[in-house]
Amino acid sequence: MHQPSIPHLSATDPDLAALVEAEATRQHDKVRLIASENYVSPAVLEATGSVLTNKYSEGYPGRRYYEGQQVVDPIEELAQARARQLFGVDHANVQPYSGSPANLAVHLAFMRPGDTFLSLELAHGGHLTHGSPVSISGKWLRPVHYGVGRETGRVDMDEVRDLARKERPKVIFCGGTAIPRTIDFPAFAEIARETGAVLVADIAHIAGLVAGGAHPSPAGHAGVITTTTHKTLRGPRGAMIMTTGEHATAIDKAIFPGLQGGPHNHTTAAIAVALKEAAREEFRTYARQIVANAQALAGALTERGFDLISGGTDNHLILIDLTKKDIGGKPAAKALDRAGIELNFNTVPFDPRKPWSPSGIRLGTAAVTTRGLTEEHMTSIAVWVDRAVAAADDEAALGTIAAEIRDLLGGFPMPGWGPAR
Ligand SMILES: *Cc1c(COP(=O)(O)O)cnc(C)c1O
Repeated sequence: MHQPSIPHLSATDPDLAALVEAEATRQHDKVRLIASENYVSPAVLEATGSVLTNKYSEGYPGRRYYEGQQVVDPIEELAQARARQLFGVDHANVQPYSGSPANLAVHLAFMRPGDTFLSLELAHGGHLTHGSPVSISGKWLRPVHYGVGRETGRVDMDEVRDLARKERPKVIFCGGTAIPRTIDFPAFAEIARETGAVLVADIAHIAGLVAGGAHPSPAGHAGVITTTTHKTLRGPRGAMIMTTGEHATAIDKAIFPGLQGGPHNHTTAAIAVALKEAAREEFRTYARQIVANAQALAGALTERGFDLISGGTDNHLILIDLTKKDIGGKPAAKALDRAGIELNFNTVPFDPRKPWSPSGIRLGTAAVTTRGLTEEHMTSIAVWVDRAVAAADDEAALGTIAAEIRDLLGGFPMPGWGPAR
């Protein structure tokens, strides 16, 4: 039985209802360490599942192409105002369908085909939309990449400055998808200013930490800030682009009509709810606990001989090179999943292996922190990870770990769903 119950879905489509139920159980029973995932609140789930999904609203509040916006306009204005307030920015566009379209809108707003931009190399922690050769951003534009130091695992700001002076990029991206360390927004801003580039901070991963005061904010440094809303920020799947007054119109036009049609109003409403939740004092505590948990997990893994890129973490994310453990990232991730620990295989900087079977795994603590786990549990998780990696071919051992994990998690309710009693 799904709790809260889903009687209409069960009646109309029992097969699909059973799949939803199975996914809820899976999310309940596993230690979810995928760094980009979380558990949204019941309030966010309700907004996402509301009748707002029925409404078309092309345009922006007060300037729509369809009638009947008496309710949707104030909803979108509320989301915008809360984003401006929470992140301390002049302008917020809450319409991007997700993080990738948000970044595509940045490319459209500031560049023409063939233009040069600077970003972190994908294999060093960047994102596909930051100019990977398989992405439109790499096919139609000319990305130049900076990387991390082989020894330090950190971005070298001198390299960024040299590349910016040499290449004169239109845009400089900072931020990425596998960066365990604090991003130096003031240093990026100085380089962008000197070389006449627009600085874009993609805070998709760390938005919740920024909102909760657990990571420095790019506001006041980056002219444009893109973010997803569903990672550490703990909102619905969606995105926002926040800007200074100077870039507001270019970004709004790039999203609509440049790239998208009607905004997803149910998502806009759920973003507004998530932003309200993220402005609370409890969320500041949550953000600090995410980092405390990641640091505790990093310490416990290091003690067990795991090789952490950059030697640790400042945020929610840990990147591990498994080379010394004599196992690839992919077989390790698959064994861990069977042991009830869900994460992803990941390229590590200077990885000698291919992206489809790389050397590393990536872990994050946003979801387990939402479940209420604290530092002491991170030690248990490190022990489980160690045992599972060592017993990757031993199904019985993996099954034992999965049962121990189910046992622990039974004491930590999952927002929005509970197992039948
Ligand atoms: C997740 C992520 C994105 C893309 O978001 P999607 O919603 O998956 O399209 C963009 N940039 C960064 C840095 C990300 O981590």
